[in-house]
Amino acid sequence: MFTRTRIRLTAWYVGVLGFFLLALGVAVFQLEEHQLRTNVDHGLKVAAGRVQVQVDKVGVSDAAGTYYGASYTISLSDGSGSPIVNNGEPPANRPAVLAAIHHGSDLRTIERKGVTQRIYSVRLQHTDFVVQIAGSLEPEEDALHGLLRNMLLGAAACLAVAAVGGWFVAGKSLEPVAAAFQRQQNFIADASHELRTPLAVIRGNAEFLQQEQPGSEEAAEILAETDRLASLVDALLALARGQGGATAEASVDLGELVTASAQALQPLAGERKVALDIAVAPGMDVRGNPDQLRQLIVILVDNALRYTPEGGQVTVDARRIDGSAVVAVSDTGIGIDPDALEHVFERFYRADEARTRAFGGSGLGLSIAEQLVTGHGGRISAESTPGRGSTFTVSLPLGPG
Ligand code: ADP
Repeated sequence: MFTRTRIRLTAWYVGVLGFFLLALGVAVFQLEEHQLRTNVDHGLKVAAGRVQVQVDKVGVSDAAGTYYGASYTISLSDGSGSPIVNNGEPPANRPAVLAAIHHGSDLRTIERKGVTQRIYSVRLQHTDFVVQIAGSLEPEEDALHGLLRNMLLGAAACLAVAAVGGWFVAGKSLEPVAAAFQRQQNFIADASHELRTPLAVIRGNAEFLQQEQPGSEEAAEILAETDRLASLVDALLALARGQGGATAEASVDLGELVTASAQALQPLAGERKVALDIAVAPGMDVRGNPDQLRQLIVILVDNALRYTPEGGQVTVDARRIDGSAVVAVSDTGIGIDPDALEHVFERFYRADEARTRAFGGSGLGLSIAEQLVTGHGGRISAESTPGRGSTFTVSLPLGPG
């Protein structure tokens, strides 16, 4: 039952690590990109400096003929932006030349024939000429792609290891929690079990007393309280057992089960002078534990009968709605205050302590019902109008077929 927590913990480990890796990756990538770009720009500026030196030494036309190495394309343009010398492919970039004429220098990245180029254009001192140095950014881009690929591979490996490690660590750290939980469950189960024997003895003796003194109020009270205690013990045992895990065991015809369970309470309804109507759609199969589902229906119908005065009406309706089997137990009883309604599924909660105690409830029925429904992957909800009645609605997923 801790599997979901374990999955969630592992997901957290992986998520947090993934977030940090992403942040780190973005930072490293941007830094590296900036560094490479700076190096390229520096190289372009150094090359432009060499041309300037050459121009100063031998004049523009001789400087243009000089070989400056194969790393860059060097072109010279006159003051109108028209290229006069182009030392290799590709040709000068006119907008960049014009920008350099205006601003003294210009640095830009352009895309030419599918190749990304960085271009530095600068006006040569003491002349009207602009020298333009262009270099391909391909090696840098290749390096960045390589870096990105390696970082992604590294991150994927890290996350995979973190997922496996996280799963293991989460399992380890949940072990004591699971053990403590199990011990507590065992304790409740054992205690409830141990309490049953003395209760049976008390009940036997009280019955004997009642036979001996038929009118004895004390004997009747001992019997009533013993029964209350016995049902409380049963409820505690059911709660402790139910928390052990969900119990989808067999395919159950819910309609049949609801009819049978509700019918079994007809005598009780007769005793309380409350009409019990059952309307059930056929062919609703759910996966579950029949005993638990029966207990669920009994809790709801028993409550409805208990909190409905003589002459009232209880209706059990089961039908298929949007791929779910929906069982609604409605009554025309005392209803529940809106404030109390949100607490009725809590353990030991009674809407009106003084009044409902007189009805003999323990305050555990609805929490057991909720647990049973959740264990079957369903939902339970309550609606009520004080003085008019309540409806408890259970929705269970329909099983295959
Ligand atoms: P209990 O054993 O006291 O009935 P439950 O957990 O079954 O405990 O119900 C909790 C409280 O919710 C009850 O004490 C009662 O106040 C209220 N309640 C439950 N069902 C109904 C109903 N059908 N009509 C009115 N009140 C209800």
